[in-house]
Amino acid sequence: MTGYQVLARRWRPQRFDDLVGQDVVVRTLRNALQSKQIAHAYLFSGLRGVGKTTVARLLAKALNCEKGPTSEPCGECVSCREIAAGSSLDVLEMDAASTRGIDDVRELRDVVRNLPIRDRYRVVILDEAHQLTKDAFAALLKILEEPPAHVIFILASTEKDKFPATILSRCLQIDFRPIPADLVAARLAHIAEKEAFELTFGAAQLIARATEGSLRDALSLLDRVRAFAGEMVDENAVAEVIGLPPFETVLALWQALESGNVAAALSLARAEEQSGRDAGALYEQLVQLLHALLLLATDPQVPTAFPATHRSALVESAVRLGSPLLLRLLTLALEGKGLVASADRVGVAVAVAVGRLALWPRLQRVEALLAGEPVSAVPPPSSSSSASVTAPPPSTPLSLGGRLAAALEAMGAHLLAGRVGSVREARLEGETLVLCCGALPAATRKSLREATDQLSAAAHQARLASRVQVDENGSPTQVRDQGLRTRVESDEDVKRVLEVFGGRLGSVEEKP
Ligand SMILES: [Zn+2]
Repeated sequence: MTGYQVLARRWRPQRFDDLVGQDVVVRTLRNALQSKQIAHAYLFSGLRGVGKTTVARLLAKALNCEKGPTSEPCGECVSCREIAAGSSLDVLEMDAASTRGIDDVRELRDVVRNLPIRDRYRVVILDEAHQLTKDAFAALLKILEEPPAHVIFILASTEKDKFPATILSRCLQIDFRPIPADLVAARLAHIAEKEAFELTFGAAQLIARATEGSLRDALSLLDRVRAFAGEMVDENAVAEVIGLPPFETVLALWQALESGNVAAALSLARAEEQSGRDAGALYEQLVQLLHALLLLATDPQVPTAFPATHRSALVESAVRLGSPLLLRLLTLALEGKGLVASADRVGVAVAVAVGRLALWPRLQRVEALLAGEPVSAVPPPSSSSSASVTAPPPSTPLSLGGRLAAALEAMGAHLLAGRVGSVREARLEGETLVLCCGALPAATRKSLREATDQLSAAAHQARLASRVQVDENGSPTQVRDQGLRTRVESDEDVKRVLEVFGGRLGSVEEKP
């Protein structure tokens, strides 16, 4: 009986060229190797499963290859082969999560005191290095202060901010980015082809999006789906394994929303919760569907993560609604994600978010009304102020925050997109996009603050700004708007509009 080797292991890149989505990392290391600028300590940071340990082993090979140090390790010499197999005596892999005490670091000191047994360097790969104790960090610092010439440390970590500054300053820091969903999906498709099993485009996309930029997680999910579905991996098999609703449910929900049928939409959301599945997952799929519709509205040929059998219905829907309206619905849906992500009772939050989306035909009428266009049965407001009810007015392009959320969504960072979607106000200060987060719950503010790097990367990619800053004070506009808001809230016509349509006051602004 032959054992099954998991895909992540079998397809672990053995050459720098095989790495997916880490071009900057690879170029940096290759340049360093070519110019023999080799640091004594490296810190590889980034999300789990994006290639840190893989690159650490490749770097060890590059340093110890018989033909090295080289930017292209041969992969064939004894040293290269032993490192690939994890059996090289000169390359030590330690997991700080399990060996975090001072004794292990003393052990480490003894190990680094000895010369390499056969190769050029002793390479110490310390995984999850942020989990070292304070004492262990102190001992490591002692080593790094006067590193022996034959020792190279490679620290890998998902939490760079937990390292003492003294350690950071002695490491060459290399940041690993989350791998874009499209690259992960393409890699899955490539592997499926080589392994000769069927993987639909939509299934690869679903797996890539569900695992948020981690290739290792994507491969292990693919292992699980294969174990369940055999040689034919399609969207429904993936959905079943990860507990997503069947696509038919997502489509039914969308059809209820499209026709403005609030009762049907809410009852679908409730049924999903009662079935024991996660209602939040249904909502997430709905957001993905809206995103797909938006893409289809601009290009009916674009591939989507949904089953091919429903494609023509989706294209028809997308073309009929058009991209401006779909953009607004997606913005509204992303705001709902913020609500769902931060809610204690997910079912209730999903009901509210779905209910708001289902009201969109009425919101359209309120907007028309507020813009001064005649709408039957309700008198136009006489206030000189304009108020928008939950959705931005038709002439307003997507807000800065909305564009950033859309960029994150496109990168596969769904949770973060939801959080940015709940930011009410954003402004540009030179090259910096400032998110005004004063009004958000503390937990959301913290998550946003901790994701500043990722936010900046998304803003940069979407050509919005060079960096993002999270401002946690109350915004000047909020303070200024307060008076105006009170005035609008007490306006009889506005009151009546809100009463008739069951809406709520979103943002308030003065017309110039
Ligand atoms: Zn070699």
